[in-house]
Amino acid sequence: MGDGGMPVTSAPESSVRTEAIRLSGVNKSYGEVQAVKDVDVHIEAGEFVTLLGPSGSGKTTLLQLIAGFLQPDSGTVYLNGLDATKLEPHSRELGLVFQHYALFPHMDVAANVAYGLRLRKKPKAEQRERVAECLQMVDLEGMADRRPDELSGGQRQRVALARALAFNPSIVLLDEALGALDRRLRHSLQFQIKEIQRTVGSTFVHVTHDQEEAMAMSDQIILMQEGGVVQQGSPRDLYEEPASEFAAMFMGETNRLVGRVAGIRDHEVDLELGGAREILTVRRPGSQVGDSDPVVACIRPERVHLARRDQPPALSGRLRKSTFMGDHQRHEVQVGDGLLVLKEPPGGLPAPSPGEVVGLVLDRESVHVYPAP
Ligand code: ADP
Ligand code: MG
Repeated sequence: MGDGGMPVTSAPESSVRTEAIRLSGVNKSYGEVQAVKDVDVHIEAGEFVTLLGPSGSGKTTLLQLIAGFLQPDSGTVYLNGLDATKLEPHSRELGLVFQHYALFPHMDVAANVAYGLRLRKKPKAEQRERVAECLQMVDLEGMADRRPDELSGGQRQRVALARALAFNPSIVLLDEALGALDRRLRHSLQFQIKEIQRTVGSTFVHVTHDQEEAMAMSDQIILMQEGGVVQQGSPRDLYEEPASEFAAMFMGETNRLVGRVAGIRDHEVDLELGGAREILTVRRPGSQVGDSDPVVACIRPERVHLARRDQPPALSGRLRKSTFMGDHQRHEVQVGDGLLVLKEPPGGLPAPSPGEVVGLVLDRESVHVYPAP
């Protein structure tokens, strides 16, 4: 019952989870090249979302369509629930951290960060206060008087982020913002930017071709291939349940064994892998495969293990090579004409010698089977 006798009504779904961005049936071509194909995407407010894919997969084009620098050939772009397809970029009220959208070289850091506030004719005192807040947020308090050419690459990107956040946009777009930085700096900025996003609560849409970066930062990943969306989900969804062989190969290391279906039942399939005589029984795939069909089976290196003596192996093969990698031991095992890589935690079984026949155990649920291309 409600307080003070007031009737209690449950909040409508839309007020619980608000939609920041929706793309519906979006297409974009440059002449003959179809850069974005039939894209339907839904992004919740307050999430950190990454557009991930190889170079040329349409990530930047998709981000430019959201920003309004490009118009779709067909389809609709909704921002905060409203049709924004025809809106000019400056009317979309988005924070932008784009590579071609560099800092103004003749302005100091404070003037760069204040840029959006000046455009919006905010009072001087409010500008100063907000600039100080934003510089503190990106850890650059002492740098307000510096010019961009007196900053390191990482500092420049943090100023660009402060500039994008200054007018409190509900949506921030970042295109390969960390791409030009060295690996160590990229790592520390990944966590810093994710932390800032959590603090301000805006929706961030970030473009990268770096799968580790996407994993480290994102609530949701939108995986793209040749202009289309292959899969959208949490980093864990994409890693554990890749929707296609491409997704499995792109999201971290995976073993790929070719074979054919040797038997098919309600929930299981038997696979004949890598020309091996052995049969591996695994979970039946969601995608349609029929008896005798050629298939590809994918399994992560950390999901296959050397069998102990008392364990019935799921497969067997010949150990080719064993390498100490510090945090794990890496084994390469020949199974039929295929090669399986295993990552064993340190301090496991004593390593067998190369050339020995070894048994392998694996979790059948973590083998993903796709139709052969
Ligand atoms: P990504 O950001 O994933 O690398 P892009 O969106 O930049 O991909 O490009 C997608 C495809 O569109 C690529 O084949 C690219 O060569 C092409 N493309 C991008 N921009 C242009 C342009 N201005 N003119 C012609 N083709 C373009
Ligand atoms: Mg790009």
